[in-house]
Amino acid sequence: MTTLPVCYQKLLKRMREVNLLNTTTSILEWDQDTYMPHAASAYRAEQLAYLGGRAHRLFTAGAVAELLAECEQQGFAPDSAEGANVREWRRHYDRAVRLPASFVVRFGRAKSLSYEAWREARKQSNFKLFKPHFSKIVALVRQKADYLGYEASPYDALLEAYEPGARTEPIAQLFAELRPAIVAILGPALERSASLPKDLLQGTYPVAAQQAFNRRVAEAMGFDFTAGRIDTTTHPFCSTLGVGDCRLTTRYREEDFTDSLYSILHEAGHGLYEQGLPPAHFGMPAGAAVSMGIHESQSRLWENHVGRSLSFWEYWLPIACEYFPNLKQFTAAQVNAAVNRVRLSFIRVDADQVTYDLHIMLRFDIELKLVTGQLGVPDVPAYWNEQFEQMSGLKVTKDSDGCLQDVHWAGGGIGYFPTYTLGNLNAAQLMQKARQENPALEGELKGGHYQTLLAWLRQKIYQEGSRYRPRELMERVTGESTSIRHHLEHLRGKLAEG
Ligand code: ZN
Repeated sequence: MTTLPVCYQKLLKRMREVNLLNTTTSILEWDQDTYMPHAASAYRAEQLAYLGGRAHRLFTAGAVAELLAECEQQGFAPDSAEGANVREWRRHYDRAVRLPASFVVRFGRAKSLSYEAWREARKQSNFKLFKPHFSKIVALVRQKADYLGYEASPYDALLEAYEPGARTEPIAQLFAELRPAIVAILGPALERSASLPKDLLQGTYPVAAQQAFNRRVAEAMGFDFTAGRIDTTTHPFCSTLGVGDCRLTTRYREEDFTDSLYSILHEAGHGLYEQGLPPAHFGMPAGAAVSMGIHESQSRLWENHVGRSLSFWEYWLPIACEYFPNLKQFTAAQVNAAVNRVRLSFIRVDADQVTYDLHIMLRFDIELKLVTGQLGVPDVPAYWNEQFEQMSGLKVTKDSDGCLQDVHWAGGGIGYFPTYTLGNLNAAQLMQKARQENPALEGELKGGHYQTLLAWLRQKIYQEGSRYRPRELMERVTGESTSIRHHLEHLRGKLAEG
């Protein structure tokens, strides 16, 4: 084994230190979202600001610039772990130092104030409470894009944080193709779902039984509970707090077990990716997830392609009946139809597979117009409601069902939404390839065996870390860049089902 150059070793040591601070921050954030008492908020904010500041200073120090420049002279192979680390450290470093420290502080403060205002505004469904904060966020986000720099659209600079290498124009084109194709599927899909009795699966599903069943499903998927756990929050998420520590969260509704089940399938999909990243490079780009669009493909693959299928229910329904006797009255086909119900609704997070991306396209359109100055913040509710009605025929009567529903804008996360749809498209494309390369896969899924699928994903996606850019990764694994074709085939296949 060749010894790595001293500059690289020094840089690696520095980055590991940064990662110790960042993962410690993650623990505090996870605690904040799960068990922290409310009275601890102010001091917790100080703890987080302190650690964040330390990590930022360590990462942006002059010494890092020198070491990076030296490492870039070493001629590491671009697809080696070292090559990927240096490339990504450079990308993060350049973005970090372009933002003046005073701006970072100002943005941070604006985000926490805006988050508080948004929570209240959503509760009261009163956009006026959020408006001044949202205006400030948009102004800061536009300034941020200017600091970061871009070639074609300021939105590119924002997108880059979540989907390295992605650009606004190709995404807009992808969406422009996707939209009419989804609308064409929507009519027949709605018709098909209309014959399903509403709330077919409604019953009483004790939380403890849901927890036990969800755990059994996550274990079968391959989620390692010796290196992870599930806790309860209002908004489900997956967070890695350190080596061997992947935390999933979900919420429970006693009348509907499918809510927690599908959020666990989703979050465990994220978790399998996190647990499958190469541990030797933990926290370094070579050992980190490549983008949000790829991360979301992993959650969607398990949630929708594995979990919302007849094969899934043919295997799991008899087991589910042990936990929920109420289900004994149903066939696997009925349960599968119920969890695949398509209906127009106001809330993105409750949307089905057909309508989900329409919600995303609306947000992308608004974000793009806000960032390029074609739409002002005061006009967002009216524009939202008009566009939403055009798209769905539903009239938004309160902003909490409209432009106030998501946390992303309050938290300054403009540029994130498109990655959800990229995730849906990538999931279908990857699943298609997995089936093609593993002819026995369908039979295994019917039998509740997920090892072949997991092994394939580990080899093709997880173990690669951020060695390749997301687009390159998709091309290497599936032979083409992200396309709408496989997702549409999947949705059309649902229509033809049973
Ligand atoms: Zn997700």
